Amino acid sequence: MVDLATPLERIDGFQARFISKLKKLGIETVRDLLSHFPVRYEDFSRVYTIEELEPGQEITITAAVESIKSRNTWRRGLNLVEAELSDNTGTIRATWFNQPYIKNALQPGRIANFAGKVVISKKSGEIYLSNPTYELVSEHEHHETKHTARIVPVYSETRGLTSKGLRYLIQPLLKRLPEIPELFPVEMLESQNIPEVNSALQTIHFPETIEDAMSARRRFAFEDLFFLQLASALERMKLAERPALAVAESVELIKSLIAKLPFELTHSQKQSLWEILQDIEKPHPMNRILQGDVGSGKTVIAGLVAYATAERGAQTAFMAPTELLARQHYHTFNKLFSQYERGVALLTASEARISYGHGLESATTKTSLLREIASGKVHIVIGTHALIQKTVAFHSLALVIVDEQHRFGVRQRAALEHGKTLIPHFLSMSATPIPRTLSLTLFGDLDLSLITELPKNRKPIISRVVLPEERTNAYRFIRDEIAAGRQAFVICPRIEKPEESDSATSFIAREVKSVKEEHEKLSRNIFPDLKVSMLHGKMPAKEKASVMHAFQKNEINILVATSVIEVGIDIPNATIMMIEGSERFGLAQLYQFKGRVGRGEHQSYCMLFTDSSAATTRTRLKALVNAKNGFELAEQDLKLRGPGEFLGDAQTGMPDLAMKAIQNPDLVKHAREAVAALLKKDSTLKKHDAMRERLAVFRRDIHWE
Ligand code: ADP
Ligand code: MG
Repeated sequence: MVDLATPLERIDGFQARFISKLKKLGIETVRDLLSHFPVRYEDFSRVYTIEELEPGQEITITAAVESIKSRNTWRRGLNLVEAELSDNTGTIRATWFNQPYIKNALQPGRIANFAGKVVISKKSGEIYLSNPTYELVSEHEHHETKHTARIVPVYSETRGLTSKGLRYLIQPLLKRLPEIPELFPVEMLESQNIPEVNSALQTIHFPETIEDAMSARRRFAFEDLFFLQLASALERMKLAERPALAVAESVELIKSLIAKLPFELTHSQKQSLWEILQDIEKPHPMNRILQGDVGSGKTVIAGLVAYATAERGAQTAFMAPTELLARQHYHTFNKLFSQYERGVALLTASEARISYGHGLESATTKTSLLREIASGKVHIVIGTHALIQKTVAFHSLALVIVDEQHRFGVRQRAALEHGKTLIPHFLSMSATPIPRTLSLTLFGDLDLSLITELPKNRKPIISRVVLPEERTNAYRFIRDEIAAGRQAFVICPRIEKPEESDSATSFIAREVKSVKEEHEKLSRNIFPDLKVSMLHGKMPAKEKASVMHAFQKNEINILVATSVIEVGIDIPNATIMMIEGSERFGLAQLYQFKGRVGRGEHQSYCMLFTDSSAATTRTRLKALVNAKNGFELAEQDLKLRGPGEFLGDAQTGMPDLAMKAIQNPDLVKHAREAVAALLKKDSTLKKHDAMRERLAVFRRDIHWE
């Protein structure tokens, strides 16, 4: 018997070549296949006679094949099949390109449905059918059509799997599937006005009307949003019961640390700090995200919280996405909190350093650093993913802070917990502004702290799109700024868009090549008298560190770099961000680049160089130029390109869900309310077996477990 969990290879009639193609799309079970929903529909439901046909119509006809021939056209490799079709009312020609097998499938005398668009020939003025979908009609038995004479599902076609092929697999499967239990109580279906699952599944693939299809889609969108939020709500409830080290607030210490900072905290920095301190005081783990625009000053908050934790003798792990950034955070902590005698360490794949305040700072060996961490003498450990290796054993880890990675998964967090009875508090920090509906959906299990303002001393960055003919002037301007003591970044894109088949290495190689070329050009021809250096991902970590160090000390005027410097780098004296080939970057990424300048009191500039005159490019770059803050830009980017692009698959694993959330803020709200109502009545889902099972599958699918 077939059910949702049945692997596709166990279904008779499924050919191995289909199965392997489906596997490449991650489709392995009946559930996976039936959840591969159409991206749109084509309405071929009206069956016409040939004499009724007019150019431009989308139609189905039932006709007999009068004649059919196949030939290769003058263009090499192009095959053309031409058929003469007729019914009682007339005849019409149909053509197919590069499908020579059609000649065998449609032999003269055969009767078939043909669905497609009626087009008019420019040469002869005759109408004909171009590439119609056909489906043989048997005169004796009546059977349901898949491709013609109905509203037809169109699937995203990838790697040799056509919509036709998918319809061919899905339709009979729907017929064979026994009744699936409905997950939602009848009252919920009624109050949400969504169809029951069995009919919704039929309808989303093979609808009678477009309205039915939309209503079925709404059901499945609701289902996803519901389970996503149910999973977060349960996660939140579970965490709330686990024990964590309560870090009692030390008001005195916090006050004295703040008093010694070289600046005054903004109101929302204070607010966020307070929210975090309140949280870690509790004997249950904090689960919080600190969101603030680039340059809003998240690092200092992380520092204050880490030192408050250290004051209680407990340890903090602070993870950054790159070695450069980890190193920068290490130096920032040593600078801002140097009067405070606590062990702070830097641990990356290539470096181990330790500091005990008052400038007592030096390199050490990894082995001895690990020993210090295990003994609890080092209280704050800053690093990259190296921090979560099994070899790193903490003495009393109470707080994990993660910089610039949205969902530094539950999995990594679990790695840090490994078997401990006390769960560390967790703080994630992100500059990627996520619209509220989306963040409720994607990060429903996290509490949110927001830094909504930039430090007072900031001037808004002046941004401009720079056209090819303005290049000389732009260089002149850069020279003036450097003469005034400032510094500039030059960001280079990949030379060309990577092909799908390109390996990650050649991808980096190209970026490196373009950096080298630009460095060569700037240092030889344009600014031979200035100090121009470069930074890219292929350089050894040591060399990168020393270049950054020199740039920090203003020993380098212009730094030509790849997107290595994308996140986090903080050089307040740099006031120019010049981006080559800016049309090749995503808006979120450009915004990150822009955020590298404007971090001090000097007026800063972001110059977007582009050779492209395409309207879409201009619209996107204009959006960046005009956006007042990251939130506004995020909204625009979502509109222009959709959440998949905006968030990036890798970061969330669920752009589909994000899409649903963005398009349906009401549905998100309804799902939230439904989850709350359900948990109020049955907080362990004891009475909802089907829901419990579905939740387990859902968690696995979104990689939470
Ligand atoms: P982000 O939030 O992007 O991580 P950072 O933490 O790197 O930003 O802070 C950017 C810069 O602003 C740093 O040089 C930091 O020292 C400085 N800064 C942080 N808070 C303030 C403040 N309240 N007033 C002035 N400068 C600040
Ligand atoms: Mg930062």
